[in-house]
This record gives sequence, structure tokens and C-alpha cells, in this order.
Amino acid sequence: MLSTALFAAIFAFTGDPTPTPAIPPISDLAGLQVGKCEEGRLSDAVQLPESPQHYVRITPDNAWGRREMIDVLVHAGKQMEWLLPEADPFTVGDISARYGGQLSGHRSHRLGIDADVGVYWRDAWQPRGEFVNLHPRELDTEATWTLLQSMLNTGLISRVLLDQSLINELYEYTVESGELTIEEADAIFPPQGARVWEMKGIVTHAPNHGDHLHITVLCGG
Ligand SMILES: [Zn+2]
Repeated sequence: MLSTALFAAIFAFTGDPTPTPAIPPISDLAGLQVGKCEEGRLSDAVQLPESPQHYVRITPDNAWGRREMIDVLVHAGKQMEWLLPEADPFTVGDISARYGGQLSGHRSHRLGIDADVGVYWRDAWQPRGEFVNLHPRELDTEATWTLLQSMLNTGLISRVLLDQSLINELYEYTVESGELTIEEADAIFPPQGARVWEMKGIVTHAPNHGDHLHITVLCGG
């Protein structure tokens, strides 16, 4: 007879590991789970821990962030390991410096609430140690969506920046595969050809984001 613990372990293994909640309404979470951001600096920073089976940090000295930001990345690493074990560890670029403030090459990344994360190329592959521009058709939409969804499901994401050409690929994939309804996809991605002021999605077009996702976590009000 199976022990209760073993039965529970088997059930946990064969059962759905993630209840895959619908994308939570972001505005309801603002200020509830997250602390207030300070202006222009970062105290109580946490460094993204080394975890080579989950992700690779390009510059550990610039991998400091608020607890929420680090939690999102660590969670996404564990989710990817479970959901797509064949996928490469993802590449994490700059988050923030130890005490925040201006970071070379960025306008944001000052408060520990922004992180750059690589997108997946075909066969769930990521270039090592750098971001490389890819043709939209080279995007591994399934792997990139799985990574993005793992982060969105935390309910801690306020905004994601990505080039519209890659957004279009993700939109098409999520709707055609049945991962999202058109309504859900419209709520996450801005429509193709939308003007900047019409963009309401969490994922928003930004130039110079043809090789990575720029993730921003919520600040409490
Ligand atoms: Zn960035």
C-alpha cells in the first residue's frame, strides 16, 4: 500500500504543476503585494542568485533588483524547467546596479524593477552571454510565450517591452494554438499596426527590443 506521502508525491508529479490562473487584473494587485519604489535609487536590493540550470546572468554586478523582480525571474526559471525542460536556460541582461541609479546604456533600470531577458530562437535555443537580433521568423514562439506567461502569471508584471515584429509572432502563435482567446491576446498584446496611443496591452512595442524582453515589475502606490 502506498504511503500517504508517496501517494501525495506521485499525485503532485502527475497532476498539473501550475493551476495556470488567468492573467490576474494587474491594477487590483498594485500596492497590495508590492512595496513603494523610491525615487532614483534602490535599497534592500537582492542579487539574482546564480542558477545555471535556469538562467545565465550576463553581468552579475548589474543583476540587483527589488525582491519582486528577483522573485519573478527565479519563478520563471523553475517554470521553464518544468514546462519546457528541453529549453535553454534563458539569458538575463541588466537589472540594476547594487544601489540603483543611472545604468550605462539604459534610460530605466534605475530602481531594480526592470530586467532584460533574452527571447528564444528556434529549438528553444538562446545565444549565450549576449542578446542577438533575430528575424521574427526565427523566434521560438512556444518557448518565448511559455517564458513570458510564467512571468505574467506572477501578477507582478506591469509592462513588457518588445519589438512589434516579435509581438506579432507571439500574438499569432497564442491565438492559433488556442493558448489564448482573441480577447485575452488583445488584452496582452497591442494590435498589429496600432498607433502608440492606442496601445493598451501589457506587452508594448519599443524600438531596439528585437532580441530581448524588457520586463518591469509593479511598484506600490
Ligand atoms: Zn531594458
